[in-house]
Amino acid sequence: MAEIVLKSLAHTYSTNPQSAEDYAIRHMEHVWDQGGAYALLGPSGCGKSTLLNIISGLLAPTEGDVLFDGHRVNELPPEERNIAQVFQFPVIYDTMTVFDNLAFPLRNMNTPEYRVKPKVLEVADILELTPLLSRKAKNLTADEKQKVSMGRGLVRDDVTAILFDEPLTVIDPQLKWKLRRKLKEIHERFNITMIYVTHDQLEASTFADKIAVMYEGQVVQFGTPRELFETPAHTFVGYFIGSPGMNFFELHYDHNTAYFGEHPLPLNNAYLAALRQAESRNVKLGIRPEFVEVSTTDEPGTVAVQNKHLQDLGTYAILTFSLNQQTFKARLPEDHPPLGETVYIRFPDDKLSLYVDEYRVEVDHE
Ligand code: ADP
Ligand code: MG
Repeated sequence: MAEIVLKSLAHTYSTNPQSAEDYAIRHMEHVWDQGGAYALLGPSGCGKSTLLNIISGLLAPTEGDVLFDGHRVNELPPEERNIAQVFQFPVIYDTMTVFDNLAFPLRNMNTPEYRVKPKVLEVADILELTPLLSRKAKNLTADEKQKVSMGRGLVRDDVTAILFDEPLTVIDPQLKWKLRRKLKEIHERFNITMIYVTHDQLEASTFADKIAVMYEGQVVQFGTPRELFETPAHTFVGYFIGSPGMNFFELHYDHNTAYFGEHPLPLNNAYLAALRQAESRNVKLGIRPEFVEVSTTDEPGTVAVQNKHLQDLGTYAILTFSLNQQTFKARLPEDHPPLGETVYIRFPDDKLSLYVDEYRVEVDHE
């Protein structure tokens, strides 16, 4: 078991990279602490599999180092890195029984047979594979095969880490939920570092204590599900996490006043100071739909907006309104009062986040 450090890491599949876009991993510094349950979350193509394959040694990075407990492992082949990896599609031996498939990684390490059996039985029990142990793998359903594949990843408890690359893609939704709980249980029992790749925020937050959000080849935030929700470090995190995602609007700053389009915004001095210091003109404010205050009457500090659409989703509702020709969303509790065509909204200062060049700038709320 080990701490995994990625140092000045970059990777390109191109033989002649011209620009940042040619890199699948764009200059990354990252530390996975020993024993954590982590998710690596991001859209398709952002570099998640590339990163896992670099950690496991299937891929040699173009630049930078991979360190396990401070030791550089770049030159070590996958077998010597002591990492278990579970892929999106089952990797099993069709002609072997389920038992022999599960036993394979242990026998491969010359584990004595008296220790193989209890371990295989334990993993089979957790994954509910016990009744299938004597069956040939080729006769299993797709779900069952993937469970065997996961079992092969979980059977050794002497590994440095277990990497899961979207392992539940082929599993049906109900079983998916159950298997995720199982993985969490296994993590708690064996305290092995686990990195779970997914593009699904719900999957990430039910499995992981800490989530690394990846975007265009970089980890743009590493935090608890709560941190990702409350203080998204990058506009992409605001947009990707939450349902619906964060609202963003562009600001411009002129003569000590911040404007949204033509409208001056009543921002406090801390924001104005941060805006004064910003060296870019790419400046945005973000607010989560949950934090937009909506009222039916014209209260002090509110702005009148058109109610464009109200979608009732059972336990909550989503209001779509427009302000300054831009569409915003607000999330309302199910017991919200009936809304007319005009509603009055307010963006509380302390719930706004300021982004300069897409990264969040800390502002003291007065
Ligand atoms: P993810 O797992 O997040 O979907 P990948 O790591 O598979 O992302 O891919 C990251 C980027 O690298 C994508 O643009 C993808 O097209 C590219 N890529 C992945 N594998 C290869 C490969 N073997 N050869 C060339 N380009 C690749
Ligand atoms: Mg992938």
